[in-house]
Amino acid sequence: MRPLIAGNWKMNGLLAQLEVIERVAASAIAAPPLADVLICPPATLIGPAVQTAAGRIAIGGQDCASEVAGAFTGDTSAEMLKDAGASAVIVGHSERRQHHGETDAIVATKVLAAWRAGLLAIICIGETLAQRRAGKALSVCDEQLAGSVSEGTITSAMAIAYEPLWAIGSGHTPKPEQIVEVHAHIRASLTARWGAKASKVRILYGGSVNPSNARAILALPEVGGALVGGASLKAADFEAILAAVARP
Ligand code: PEP
Repeated sequence: MRPLIAGNWKMNGLLAQLEVIERVAASAIAAPPLADVLICPPATLIGPAVQTAAGRIAIGGQDCASEVAGAFTGDTSAEMLKDAGASAVIVGHSERRQHHGETDAIVATKVLAAWRAGLLAIICIGETLAQRRAGKALSVCDEQLAGSVSEGTITSAMAIAYEPLWAIGSGHTPKPEQIVEVHAHIRASLTARWGAKASKVRILYGGSVNPSNARAILALPEVGGALVGGASLKAADFEAILAAVARP
């Protein structure tokens, strides 16, 4: 399957930052990348980002509410993201789980909301350093995966992002064999649950992906792309990561 390279801008970006989208979109036309390209700016920039991208790259949200509409001050529904032109949404990012108390059960309702609105759900899972040191990396991922994706699964509208918390924004990445182990385990869990349909689910790696390590990480078995935080804020870095995707 074609890899997916997704940028997560987190709470970064004013209108001037749309220049990055313009540059990445222009280079995607000049030299088409070997991957699907998605940028998830803050909610305030989704509409303008969609205009800027003009269909050359995809734009997504970083979170969505479970509900369609109503008295939920400050929240943004999946339908609103779709209406603004988004085609995907990140759900269950560790920063949402940590700072907003999002449990697996809450994430599961957001995944259903994403599908209800016709968005690709990029579901984030991953262990803390303490959990890894305690030998629990695989069981934590299993638990999050089982709890975050409930009934009505649409495998073609889902990507899993394995993001070990200790690798996010830290400049540290797992050893290749650690990434391979977790990705193979996730693939096996998906297949056990959904059979052949699970082959449509891309498993992204996320955590300190940058232009120097992208090629090696993206070449690992079962790495179907990357979720990129800091390095997606600079056009040159994000373009270098796109260029690191190897021909199948
Ligand atoms: C992220 O926030 O999803 C992420 C992977 O961040 P970074 O690439 O900066 O580690």
